[in-house]
Amino acid sequence: MFVFLMFGVGAGYHRYYSHRAFKTGRVFGFLLAVLAQCTAQRGVLWWAHHHRGHHRHSDEPADIHSPGQWGFWHSHILWVYDGTRATDYSKIADFARYPELVVLNKLWVVPPVLLGVVTYMFMGLSGVCVTFALSVVLVCHSTFAINSLSHIYGTRRFDTSDDSRNNWLLAIIMMGEGWHNNHHHYQSSARAGFYWWEVDITYYILRVLAAVGLVWDLRPVPRHVYAAAEAVPSPVAP
Ligand SMILES: [Zn+2]
Ligand SMILES: [Zn+2]
Repeated sequence: MFVFLMFGVGAGYHRYYSHRAFKTGRVFGFLLAVLAQCTAQRGVLWWAHHHRGHHRHSDEPADIHSPGQWGFWHSHILWVYDGTRATDYSKIADFARYPELVVLNKLWVVPPVLLGVVTYMFMGLSGVCVTFALSVVLVCHSTFAINSLSHIYGTRRFDTSDDSRNNWLLAIIMMGEGWHNNHHHYQSSARAGFYWWEVDITYYILRVLAAVGLVWDLRPVPRHVYAAAEAVPSPVAP
């Protein structure tokens, strides 16, 4: 369940809806959004438009979850559930034109509740507590750790204007999302691990889905990004 849900966060909330790093059809895109929302990190349009804002104002006062600006706990989890931020549909207009996504965004609590009910039907109370609830809590904290820990701990390959880091441990737990300095330097790529040794399980799954035709046009890392990476002798320690 953890792997399944983490893929929903990385491929759904993040790489597709926030960054359009690959293409897919409307039905599979909707299923990806449902899977992402099973993690209870609110609506997919809410998540994506706030994440785009994070990249626009990274680690500046307007960055809603910068640990440097707001402290660890606010940047880690409090900003999600303090109820002060609505979805600004004008900032995610490219996906807000699809009515099914707007409805899903407003009813964001339905997918996690349904997943909990289905888990109870098949696995009973222990299934709800461990398979469902524990997985959701671990996925949420892993996701939020990208906002907090990945802007504090790790190495910096690229001299970006923010504090983003590459963190191999978070990359393994988060199925690739921990290569966060790579991602802040070049956000449009379908892969966050730029080299074969930078394990990126979300990207590997996307490659499999592309092979069977469910997704396509996975955006690559451009040559100029690799040239910039190779111009730096070794990752810079914080
Ligand atoms: Zn970031
Ligand atoms: Zn991003």
